[in-house]
Amino acid sequence: MQSLTVENLGLATALWLGFVGVLFVLRKFVPGPVRQGQLLKDGTRKAYKLNAFYILLLVCAVIAGGQATHLFSLSTVHRLFWPLLVVGNVFAFVVTGWLFVRGRRINRERGLPVGGVLHDLFFGAELNPDLWGVDLKMFFYVPSLIGLMVMNLSFAAVQWETLGHLTTRMMLYQAFFTIYVFNYFQFEYGMLHTWDVIAENFGWMLAWGDLPFVPFFYSIGGWFVLRNQEPMQGYEVAALCVLFVVGLWLFRGANEQKHRYKENPSAPIWGKTPETVGGKLLISGFWGIGRKLNYTGELMVYFSWTICTGSESIVPYLLPLWLVCLFSHRAWRDEQRCHAKYGALWEQYCQRARFRMIPFIY
Ligand code: NDP
Repeated sequence: MQSLTVENLGLATALWLGFVGVLFVLRKFVPGPVRQGQLLKDGTRKAYKLNAFYILLLVCAVIAGGQATHLFSLSTVHRLFWPLLVVGNVFAFVVTGWLFVRGRRINRERGLPVGGVLHDLFFGAELNPDLWGVDLKMFFYVPSLIGLMVMNLSFAAVQWETLGHLTTRMMLYQAFFTIYVFNYFQFEYGMLHTWDVIAENFGWMLAWGDLPFVPFFYSIGGWFVLRNQEPMQGYEVAALCVLFVVGLWLFRGANEQKHRYKENPSAPIWGKTPETVGGKLLISGFWGIGRKLNYTGELMVYFSWTICTGSESIVPYLLPLWLVCLFSHRAWRDEQRCHAKYGALWEQYCQRARFRMIPFIY
């Protein structure tokens, strides 16, 4: 691990800006399907080019080529962990300042109300800022999740270079994470109907959350998988695979059903015409069983790769525990929003789908 010298900070800055900059240029120029976002308050819809999956394939090809030809090794990312973390934080604060100044200026020019300073810094001043025709809120998921994948793969690169092979836990951990990131970008359009995209402005909270928080904190398990070389039993491997697959099915299935319903309210769900409350809220499929089963599924996925770290330390479990808190708070905030938006229909929906995340318990 390298310390915070000027030289390492310079190298980390070059790596960080190169990584984000190249992804931004790819976002702009790589072709991809164009989808319409949700109806906005002014009656318009924003068009999004969704090419993250192709960008991911390109990045994987470059990584594989670099590793195979020994042109570079991902273990460098691991060695530069601390300098990269510092640079990532500085980057998030610089972006926040820029979003703040630009958002308030645009709001003034458009005659829109200008929020409080702290509010606009933390939550952001603009809902959908873009730069050079690229929507920034959707773009930030690209370096965030690809950065997470790279950070995780760097643990595998270190193990390979020190042991000459990968342990079962490392392979399982990497497989779960890589499938999750691929699946995420394969269904990138699902993000268009998420709360962050439809309801949150883009400020420090989302910018810092995407970069650096996700790549650095969400890969915390990698440190422990790298350290723990205890073999895994066959039944442990099987149980973790089941937990991951069922969790992914729930997470992706619920998000997919809601997305399909928003795009086409009569598209069948589990082979039947969808049932709704007042033609607005879906109660078929997963959405009739629980109001936030997409959160439950994602938690199962997070637990599956965290358990790969073993029981040596509580530290990697901070990630799923953090998500439990985030999702509980988020579900509460989202339900307040839905209640304000749908009124009596929301109450009717809550009577039909009585539980949030765990049927008969919560
Ligand atoms: P949801 O995908 O549940 O979206 C909430 C919105 O969906 C509501 O505001 C409402 O918006 C609409 N909605 C809710 N219930 C219904 C219904 N029954 N029928 C029709 N529309 C409904 O939540 P999030 O946006 O918070 O999360 C999206 C995904 O992102 C989740 O799978 C979550 O796990 C994941 N996530 C992951 C995080 C991580 O750090 N790993 C962090 C945050 C989220 P509308 O106004 O459109 O009706």
